[in-house]
Amino acid sequence: MPYTYDTQNVFARILRGEIPNKTLLETDHTLAFHDITPQAPHHVLVIPKGPYVTQDHFAEAASDAEIVDFTRTIGKVCKMLGLRPGDGDDGYRLIVNSGRDGVQEVPHFHMHILAGRVLGRMLQKAD
Ligand code: AMP
Repeated sequence: MPYTYDTQNVFARILRGEIPNKTLLETDHTLAFHDITPQAPHHVLVIPKGPYVTQDHFAEAASDAEIVDFTRTIGKVCKMLGLRPGDGDDGYRLIVNSGRDGVQEVPHFHMHILAGRVLGRMLQKAD
């Protein structure tokens, strides 16, 4: 089934400037901003500016330029926040929730960058 992009989702509205956000970094194709309900001392969302619903949609439909820019922006944010283990920093976790089982709330592809404390094991046992 092809993806249908909901143009009224909250991140589409942020990209149109209809809702404010705390921007950390903006490039031609990508926006990085602070999550409104942080789950860790650092909680940044990185989104492509294009209308992609999930990571697999982005991987299939985005241009090489968009994909490269998105990936590099994540790296730049990690550098800006001082998270890179290669620099002796304490590290971070990337999370992408997709669809129902991934418990994705906002249907615009986004990467969570979480850091600033030990984040615990990756998954808790399901209820
Ligand atoms: P997900 O469950 O992966 O779809 O995550 C959606 C994330 O978007 C959650 O962590 C929310 O706290 C975050 N969020 C929702 N609305 C906003 C907003 N207006 N500004 C920043 N983050 C938001």
